[in-house]
Amino acid sequence: MSTNRPPIIWLNVVIFSITFAIAALGAPLYAFYVGFDWTQIVMLLVAFSYCGLSITAGYHRLWSHKAYEANAVMRFIFAIGGAFALQNSILHWSSDHRVHHRHVDNNDKDPYSAKMGFFYSHIGWMLREYQASRYSDYSNCRDLQKDKIVMWQHKYYVPLAVATNFGIPLLFGLIHGDVWGALLLVGVVRLVLSHHTTFFINSLAHIWGSQPYTDKNTARDNGFLAFLTFGEGYHNYHHIFENDYRNGIRWWQFDPTKWLIKSCSWLGFAKNLRTCPEDKIEKARATMLLKRLQAKLATAPNSSVCLERLEEEYEALMLKISDYYAAQKRMIELKKRRLVKHYESFEFVQQYAEMKRLLDEQRKSWKMLTAQYA
Ligand SMILES: [Zn+2]
Ligand SMILES: [Zn+2]
Repeated sequence: MSTNRPPIIWLNVVIFSITFAIAALGAPLYAFYVGFDWTQIVMLLVAFSYCGLSITAGYHRLWSHKAYEANAVMRFIFAIGGAFALQNSILHWSSDHRVHHRHVDNNDKDPYSAKMGFFYSHIGWMLREYQASRYSDYSNCRDLQKDKIVMWQHKYYVPLAVATNFGIPLLFGLIHGDVWGALLLVGVVRLVLSHHTTFFINSLAHIWGSQPYTDKNTARDNGFLAFLTFGEGYHNYHHIFENDYRNGIRWWQFDPTKWLIKSCSWLGFAKNLRTCPEDKIEKARATMLLKRLQAKLATAPNSSVCLERLEEEYEALMLKISDYYAAQKRMIELKKRRLVKHYESFEFVQQYAEMKRLLDEQRKSWKMLTAQYA
């Protein structure tokens, strides 16, 4: 049965199974017989967050998607944290991830295609040489090859991974006074939690959740997963607007990676944060809602009138969104130039306010109608 399958990568199998067994059995036994104190628990959370955010803000949003620019200090911190998270080098990870976005759900090309099932997209893809050729081809990351920190981390990935995974827990254990406890909790439990929560993005975030922005791929928005993954659970949004530095775009959506990047920009460590234009986001949401309601109404009796009305409202909404955001763009330009004569801008300000009023009205009417058909 397994004759056609590529060979097993024993190093990965051993690392994943031994760390998992130690975390699942060793840590609870140690907790029962010896115990952990609050300092150790806090250190576990700090180390887990360091690994997680290095992957989400560094590997993912900075390097894979170029959603913002970061200075050398930030890049160095993320490069070390990524080695600590033991998820391969920045270059390799980003290369895989760019292929994932480009060929999402394509079982022949997407390295962790969700259509291959939960186990494969979660961890199975790393257990055999499915992607052997990918270790010699980083042509989709030529930009990253110009980043000295990326190339330095790629070259010294193994020593960096060993040094951080043993060094950080050991150092903490020596200072705190419980070396074995630190190796277990900050070393192994942290690594296993960090691994599997990140892996959930490739598996669960393509299976479980809603699709408010697109149904062209399997990616889902899931607030619970966002909680476990520093905001990466808003994966449906991410797959349609991948260069946005945010994944959870609403202020109330849990996205600590977004908050970290924004805070770093205030401190001058990050700049050129990219966001997707609001009109595109609003149109994508409305289009998905229309699609869903069209499918629902298609099976209902006497639905043609409802469908017609729905489509009319949708067209009107699209038009008003375009008008308003075009005016908003012009408004920003006028403000920037400060060259316009007062009477010109006054007339335009009135038009702009009117467009906003019309759009708000249309939004309300769309909301009411869609709620009625939902
Ligand atoms: Zn994905
Ligand atoms: Zn991505």
